[in-house]
Amino acid sequence: METLLLTIPQTEGYDSQLDRAAELIRSGQLVALPTETVYGLGADALDPEAVASIYQAKGRPSDNPLIIHVPNDRSWLDRYCRQVPELAYELAEAFWPGPLTMILKRDPIVPDRTTGGLDTVGIRCPDHPVTLEIIRRADRPIAAPSANTSGRPSCTRAAEVLEDVGGRIAAVVDGGDCRVGVESTIIDLTGPTPCLLRPGGMPLELLEALCGPIQRDPATLRQMSGSEQPRAPGMKYRHYAPKAPVTVVTGAAEKTADYIARQGGPTTGVICFEEFAGHFPTSQVAVLGPLHDMTQQARNVFSVLRSFDERQVDQIYAQCPESTGLGLAVANRLKKAAGFHVIELEGER
Ligand code: AMP
Ligand code: MG
Repeated sequence: METLLLTIPQTEGYDSQLDRAAELIRSGQLVALPTETVYGLGADALDPEAVASIYQAKGRPSDNPLIIHVPNDRSWLDRYCRQVPELAYELAEAFWPGPLTMILKRDPIVPDRTTGGLDTVGIRCPDHPVTLEIIRRADRPIAAPSANTSGRPSCTRAAEVLEDVGGRIAAVVDGGDCRVGVESTIIDLTGPTPCLLRPGGMPLELLEALCGPIQRDPATLRQMSGSEQPRAPGMKYRHYAPKAPVTVVTGAAEKTADYIARQGGPTTGVICFEEFAGHFPTSQVAVLGPLHDMTQQARNVFSVLRSFDERQVDQIYAQCPESTGLGLAVANRLKKAAGFHVIELEGER
C-alpha cells in the first residue's frame, strides 16, 4: 500500500486535505494523526474491523486497549461512557483539550476490539486543531494508539511514523513536531478514588490540585512481575526501547555524569542534560535538554531514544530528571526503555 503524506500547515488545499483524512477514517482506513502528545494511529473507534487493522499495522497485542479521541463536548462523553462521575466533567472542563485520558465505564456501543474486551474505555480530547477538525468532519470517535511499531519509542514527527508504519496505512497527516512529546496522563475514575495508570503530558500536581490525592498504580513505579496485572494493560509490555540495552542513572546530575563518564567507550551511547554534553568525549552523546527544562526534555525523549538505532552502540546510559511536573513522565519513559534497570546514586539533584 502506498501511504499518502497529507501535509497540513499550509493554506492552499488545507480544507481538502482535512476532508480527505476524515473520509479515509469514515471508510475504515488507518490515518496517522498529529496530536500535542505524540502521533496517533487513528481509525473509526466504532468499526471493529478498522480497529483490528490498527493492531495489525502496529503489531500490538490484542489485549492492549485503545484510547478514543473525541471533541471537547460533554455530550460525546455521555455517548460513549456510562455512570460518568461529576469529577470527569470537572476534569474535562479544566484540562480538555489536553493530554489527559480518563478511564470510565464504557457504553456498549464501543466495541470490544477497541477496549481490549474491558468494560471501561479510555477517552480524551486532543489539543491539536488539525486532528480536532478531522474528528469533527469524520463525526466519529477516533481510536488512536501511539503511531509507532509496538515496543518502539513513540513518534513525535511525521517522518518517524512513515519509518515505522509507512506502506501499512492509508495516510499520515503531517501536523509538524508534537508540542508536548510524551503521551497523555491516564487517570482511572472507575474506582472509589482516582488512580494514575500512566504519567504523561498533564502533570500530576495540576490534577491533584483539582481532585485531591491520586493513587498510583504500581506499574507506574516498577517492572510488573509475570503474574501481576497492571490496570492499564499496556504498562506490562516492554516499551519505548531502542535496540541497545538502556541503564538509567539517578541522583545528583554531577554525580550521574561522572558515573556515566567512567562507563563510557566508543560504542556507549549517553543520554544527558545539555549542561553535561561535553562530559563524555569518548562516547556517543544525545542531549535530552537543559537540566531544569522538563518541557524540552519531554519533547526530545523519544527522538533521542530513537536516534541510537542509527548509531553503532551496544549500551546506553541515561541521566534522568526529577520525578516532578513533566519530569515524572520523562523519567517513566526512560525507566521503561531501560526495563526499569536503574542505578541509584546518593545525593540531591
Ligand atoms: P497508547 O495509545 O500507545 O498511548 O497506549 C494507550 C494506553 O492506554 C495503554 O497503556 C493502554 O493499556 C491504556 N488504556 C487504554 N484504554 C484503557 C482502559 N480502558 N483501561 C485501562 N487502560 C487503558
Ligand atoms: Mg504506545
